[in-house]
Amino acid sequence: MLNRILLVLIVFGFGFTLNPQPRIVTEKFFPDVQKEFNTPAFKKKRGFTNYEELIAYLNQLQQANSALMEIKYIGNSQKGMAIPMVVLTDKNAKDPIRVWMQGGLHGDEPASTEGMLHLIGEVLREPEMLQRLQIAVVPMANIDGYVKQDRYAANGLDLNRDQTKLMAPESVYLKQAFSDFRAEVAVDFHEYRPYRRDFVHYNRAGVTSLFDVMFLYSGNLNIPEELRNYTNDVFVHAARKTLDASGMRHHDYFTTADYHGDVHLNQGSVQSRSSATSYALSNCISSLIEVRGVGIGRTSFKRRVFCTYEVARSYLRTAYDQHDELRSVLARSEKARREVIVKSSRKVLNRNVAFIDLDTYTEVELPMVVHDGFHCIPKLSRSLPVAYALDANLKYIRTLVGKLKTLGVEVSILKDPKQVKIEKYIPTYLKRESASYEKVHRMDIRTRIERADTLLPAGTFLVHMNQKNAGLAAEVLEPEGPNSFISFGLLTPRLAPGRVLPYYRIIEN
Ligand SMILES: [Zn+2]
Repeated sequence: MLNRILLVLIVFGFGFTLNPQPRIVTEKFFPDVQKEFNTPAFKKKRGFTNYEELIAYLNQLQQANSALMEIKYIGNSQKGMAIPMVVLTDKNAKDPIRVWMQGGLHGDEPASTEGMLHLIGEVLREPEMLQRLQIAVVPMANIDGYVKQDRYAANGLDLNRDQTKLMAPESVYLKQAFSDFRAEVAVDFHEYRPYRRDFVHYNRAGVTSLFDVMFLYSGNLNIPEELRNYTNDVFVHAARKTLDASGMRHHDYFTTADYHGDVHLNQGSVQSRSSATSYALSNCISSLIEVRGVGIGRTSFKRRVFCTYEVARSYLRTAYDQHDELRSVLARSEKARREVIVKSSRKVLNRNVAFIDLDTYTEVELPMVVHDGFHCIPKLSRSLPVAYALDANLKYIRTLVGKLKTLGVEVSILKDPKQVKIEKYIPTYLKRESASYEKVHRMDIRTRIERADTLLPAGTFLVHMNQKNAGLAAEVLEPEGPNSFISFGLLTPRLAPGRVLPYYRIIEN
C-alpha cells in the first residue's frame, strides 16, 4: 500500500522533479546500450539538445555534406523560432521514394529529436540509401514545447490532435511541408509515458510498461485495406525483427481509457486528427513510433535514442528494398476506394498483456479488455461521391478551402454552371459539447440526406474523389465524422436543424 501511495505521489505530485522509475527496473529491464552517439545531448551530462545546439549541429553537417543535404525553414513556431526541415537528396538518384520522418511533435519526448539527429548523421556517413530514397526530416517539430520540455505548443494545443482542424500555426506549416513533399512513407517518432495513473491499480504496487517500442499504425477504414495490411506485414514487421535482433521488447501501441468506470486498453490508431492516420489517409505508408521514455528524465537515454534510430533505419531499409512493390501498392490503393466510412468502432477482445510488476520486479501478464483499432467495424457508411461541391458565396468557405489545400487535397473551381445530381445534408440533431476539447467545443451532429437535381453556379469549389488524398477529404467533410470540420466546430454559427449544409455530395455528373 505504501508503495502505491508513493507511486501516486511520484507520478502526480512531483512528476516533474522525481523519476518514478526504481533503479532495479532500469538495471533489470532497460540497461543502457553500449553505443557511441555524436549528437549534442551526448556531449553533456544533463538536459537534452537545445534549439541552438540543434541548429549548430545541422549547419555543421550541412557544410560538410552540401551536395546531399539542404536545410529549409518551413515556418516559425508561435514564439518565433524557425522550424528546420532537413532534406537529404542524391541528385543522381532515379525516381527516389520520398520518406518523411519527424520527431518532437510533443515537446517532452526528447529521444525522438535526438534519434532524428543521429539518423541524419548516419545517412550522410553512408549515403547509399539516397540512391533510391529522398528523405525529409523535421527533428524538432514543436520547438516551443521542446524548449520547456512540455508536451503542448505555446497556445496549449496538442499538435498531434490538430491534424485536421489545423488550429496551431505549427500544424499548418508542418502539414503544408508534408503535403508539398508528397511523402510515400511517413514515420512520426514519439515517446510514451510508462508510469500511468491507471497502472497504479494493478497488483499490489502497481505496474509499469514493459515495452521499449510500441508501434502505432492505422486501422482507419478510409485507408484501403491493401495499404493497411502492407504497412503492418512489411514495414512494421521488418522493424519488429530489427528490434528482436537487438533484444528490445515491442508491442502494438495501446493506451488506457475509461469505459464506464473500467480501465480498458485502446490499441492502434483510427483518428485522422493524429499523425499516424492522417498520413496514411494521404495514401502513404505511415507509422507512429512510441519509445518508452516520458517522465523518466535521462534514464536509459542512449537506449531510447538507439531504439528510435533502429526503427527509423529499418523503415528506410524497407522502403529501399521495396521500391517498386511499394509504388505498385500505393498506385492500387489510390484507385481502390469504393465507399466512404463516416463512423466506425473498434473491435473488442480479451487479451493478456505483459507488464512489469512494481512489487516483485518481474514480468506479469494481465488480462485486459482491448479495443483494437486495427480491426474496425463500420457503423455509418456512404457511397463514394464523384466530388464534394462547396458553395463559393459563403465567406467562411474560404477557410475550409484553405485547410483542404493545406491537407494536400486538390480543390478545383467550376468554370461554367453545371446541372448535377447531388445529395444535401440536412441536420436532424445538433449538440455542442459543453466540455472543451483541444480548445474547441465539439459538435455532435446527425444528418439526413436529400437528393436533388441542381444547377451548380460557376465558381463552386470542387473536391474530386479520384485523387490521392480523397480519404482525408472524406474525413473532414462528412459531417458526422469524429474529426470533421463540423465536429470540430469550424462551422458552428451556420448550423441549425433543418438548415441545409453549405456543401454537397455530387453523385452523378
Ligand atoms: Zn507523443
